Amino acid sequence: MDTPSILTTQYSSLTGIRALAKADVHNHLLMGGRRESIRQLTGARLSPFRPVDGTIGELDEWIATQYRPLLKQGAGVFALALKAAFRQAARDGVKVLEASIDAGYGAAFGIPPARVVATLRQVHQETAPEIDFRPELGLNRNLSVRSLLLHIEPYLDFNYFTGIDLYDDETAQPIRNFREIYRFARSLGLRCKAHAGEFGDADSVIEAVEELELDSVQHGIGAAGSIGAMQWLADHRIRLNVCPASNIRLKRCTSYKTHPIRRLFDHGIRVALGSDDVLIFGSGITEQMHRLLKVKVFTPEEMEVICRNGMEENR
Ligand SMILES: [Zn+2]
Repeated sequence: MDTPSILTTQYSSLTGIRALAKADVHNHLLMGGRRESIRQLTGARLSPFRPVDGTIGELDEWIATQYRPLLKQGAGVFALALKAAFRQAARDGVKVLEASIDAGYGAAFGIPPARVVATLRQVHQETAPEIDFRPELGLNRNLSVRSLLLHIEPYLDFNYFTGIDLYDDETAQPIRNFREIYRFARSLGLRCKAHAGEFGDADSVIEAVEELELDSVQHGIGAAGSIGAMQWLADHRIRLNVCPASNIRLKRCTSYKTHPIRRLFDHGIRVALGSDDVLIFGSGITEQMHRLLKVKVFTPEEMEVICRNGMEENR
């Protein structure tokens, strides 16, 4: 009988996986903490997210009715929500955290940009200083370029953010509308990401990469529908920051076993893992790795490649 390798043993339990250095490259920071942690820190009991159709509308509705009233309480809750997110990342063994704060958040809740940045710095340093935190400005696709630029501008003086990420409804407006903003961000040396192919098809992923000159794509699983698109992404070394738990909960696929991450990996695409929103979907990187290994979607050796993809500097 073969003796299991050290690698196999380490990857066979949640404890072993949790201890491995890993990256979370797709994370909406205010929704990065566990519900239980939010309850302990703030006293708020948020109902679980129970999607019926798995639409972005349902997700937005949950945020609006469950979470927004809490966030409305202002800067104190902001700090606690960040604390929950950094705690979760630290417990998950995350060493590289690429995570966004919505650029409109401060304005919406009356928190000045200087306070937003100072709180991010402070909570990061106090809660998980060992994490290489790469903060991003999140852009809501429902907003006009003009209002997004107005939101972003006050944050640029701090020289703190390392990237931008466009999200929410992929059908809200054409991706080319955001070309100007991405060109501007790139001229400042910011890493360029956008959500594409979460609900959209393979063409929408390629279009987003080409129009916005993306370094990586958030989700991008729609690319699995076209061999040509996968080949193109592999040739251009575009990383896909994939979140299986989120995709399953939002009914983009039925299970870890049938998730397109395997197909994307097999076509030579650099895939990495993200948690998306632990607050809503309930699974961190460790749990997702454990599930993918348990149902034999990946071997421990392949999972090492995926972890490395996330840890690498992505430019
Ligand atoms: Zn996302």
